Amino acid sequence: MTDAYWNKKVETMSRAELEKYQLKLLKNQVKYCYENSKVYRNKLKNIGITPDDIKKLDDSQKIPFTYKNDLRDNYPFGMVTVPLGELVELHASSGTTGNPVVGAYTTNDMDVWAELMARSLYTTGVRKEDVMHNAYGYGLFTGGLGFHYGAQKIGTTILPISGGMTQRQIKLMQDLGSTVLCCTPSYAIYLAETMIKGGISPENDLKLKIGHFGAEPWSERIRERIEKELAIEAFDIYGLTELCGPGVSVECTEHNGLHIWEDHFLIETIDPKTGEILSAGEEGELVFTTLTKTGLPILRFRTRDISVIQNEPCECGRTHSRMMRIRGRSDDMMIIRGVNVFPSQIEYAIMGLSELAAQYQIILERPDALDVFTIKAELTEKSVNSSQHELETLKRRIKQKVNNITGLSPIIELVKPGALPRTAGKAKRVFDMRLGKI
Ligand code: ADP
Ligand code: ZN
Repeated sequence: MTDAYWNKKVETMSRAELEKYQLKLLKNQVKYCYENSKVYRNKLKNIGITPDDIKKLDDSQKIPFTYKNDLRDNYPFGMVTVPLGELVELHASSGTTGNPVVGAYTTNDMDVWAELMARSLYTTGVRKEDVMHNAYGYGLFTGGLGFHYGAQKIGTTILPISGGMTQRQIKLMQDLGSTVLCCTPSYAIYLAETMIKGGISPENDLKLKIGHFGAEPWSERIRERIEKELAIEAFDIYGLTELCGPGVSVECTEHNGLHIWEDHFLIETIDPKTGEILSAGEEGELVFTTLTKTGLPILRFRTRDISVIQNEPCECGRTHSRMMRIRGRSDDMMIIRGVNVFPSQIEYAIMGLSELAAQYQIILERPDALDVFTIKAELTEKSVNSSQHELETLKRRIKQKVNNITGLSPIIELVKPGALPRTAGKAKRVFDMRLGKI
């Protein structure tokens, strides 16, 4: 089993040992921030705290939260804690929910990132002998280069193809014998769809066996679909620019949550509305504190990502806590006719139907007092020729499934295969026109 771990000692250390180690790092990180960042020093001074007040792990709860807006207000380098000459790389978030946020890395931060990505890939079975088809975007987005650095550390052969030019991707995957695919889950679905259309059987014509999917929320249904259509084992991987990029947590082969690399990050869950600390097992917003960052350390970062933490031992032998699949971002939650709904719940409801392709859109309008909730779902090449009666029955089934989960009755619009846009990056699924905004 030793071969299962990239760093057995760290990945399997007892919780007591891990927490002791975390406390030492937390003390250092808070002191480091206090001494090197005006922003953190002021935040702590304002509430009368000094680094000496951090005596046990729970004392992290005394530290004020850091919000995306803190980083934006201090754009670009206001929260950097080293002379700018010490920085060796910069990234920026894709700005899914607003202005970009800068990620600034020292040599030490780059080493840690590569190490954590190597550990994450290795955990899922990626080895030196593999050929990794990396279709995450290269550039400012942390996805492409994050996977690149991790695979390089393992010694895996990397194909740095980035996103787009789908036909060419498939040809190269075939010709070069790719065994690992890395991309957003929405692009994986698009790749599978294009292969099937082109008469390529992933099972017989490709050597793919492992897939790494993340950067956006996806559901178990999409996993089932990707695994079946691409004939691979699909792993969920999570990260964000503010912490390092991908490599914060990853699924092990148990597929029962993503191990958070707690030797570098301290995790808490809070109620997103009140900020109250939640216990393990309770769903809430993830809040991370970096423990080893030197360029742009972050104390108690409000991710807005909603999940549940479990810290019971995992069958794989790793002791690091697991976060369950992200349900969505707290700011993605839609309130439709007073009901709280995450796009992932809609996805889960409709993706099990074989008559539908994996593309959908949620459209919210408010022509007068009441919300109008429409789901556009795409038919497959096979189902598009169904009779009118069959299509009406399908619409009713979709409506029923969504109703079972949300209690709402959406209008269902079925659209032709290929009618909804595909993306090589993060998909946009919700169009909320209720406030006159898209
Ligand atoms: P942006 O906030 O502009 O999208 P990033 O590229 O840094 O910037 O994306 C980080 C965010 O992507 C996370 O906070 C989370 O919302 C989402 N994300 C990343 N990995 C996953 C994953 N495996 N599952 C769900 N969401 C994810
Ligand atoms: Zn595990």
